[in-house]
Amino acid sequence: MDVLTQKRSKLQTLTWLGLPLVAVVGWWYPLLGFLLFGCMIGAVAVAFFRGRHWCDWMCPRGAFFDVILGKISPKSRIPSLFRHTGLRVFMIVIIFSVIGTQFYFHWGNAEQIGLALVRVLTVTTVIGILLGLIYHPRVWCHICPMGTLAHWLSEGKRPLTLQEGCAECGRCAAVCPMQLEPHQYRADGIVRDNDCIKCASCIAACPKKILVFADYDRKAA
Ligand code: SF4
Ligand code: SF4
Repeated sequence: MDVLTQKRSKLQTLTWLGLPLVAVVGWWYPLLGFLLFGCMIGAVAVAFFRGRHWCDWMCPRGAFFDVILGKISPKSRIPSLFRHTGLRVFMIVIIFSVIGTQFYFHWGNAEQIGLALVRVLTVTTVIGILLGLIYHPRVWCHICPMGTLAHWLSEGKRPLTLQEGCAECGRCAAVCPMQLEPHQYRADGIVRDNDCIKCASCIAACPKKILVFADYDRKAA
């Protein structure tokens, strides 16, 4: 395990605890629901500079999917439906409509709004767990509204690059939690998929050590 993946593992063993803190303890202490805003803002803010980095390194639910759900998920192929833009937009509309409606009806009542946020987190996490038990731990991350917003903002932000010498062994694809295939971008030299969550698993797995995160402008110049 290289330094980056060691750091990531250590961080994820702590960050996943944020999920039960809000989705379980939040039912008794609803104000914890407001922590959800930290995660929502974080995912979008970080995307401006580092793409979907937040989804892997900081998101408690993403860490929970990797650290806990990953142990029992069959990790089968994620159906292409979950990558469909229409479904992703639909999820954004549904989730933000639910949150907006709750704000409208409970405006001025912080406990009720907090509880509504806890409820949204709990329901979506249950859906994510079910999808993980059926398919793959990171299915939810393809339809998570904040993940989709981050995806749209991620173009060219700290892309993964491939140098020459790919052995086409496919190990990078085998370890990718988002089921991307970095080696398929070898002609271009840049992994142009905004769903890369910058986990660095492929970098550690590559026997040729040709994968590296790079500044897009420097690479493109
Ligand atoms: S392409 Fe590499 S860095 Fe990006 S999500 Fe997949 S394994 Fe992680
Ligand atoms: S792990 Fe490295 S050498 Fe193997 S296919 Fe991926 S980029 Fe190529």
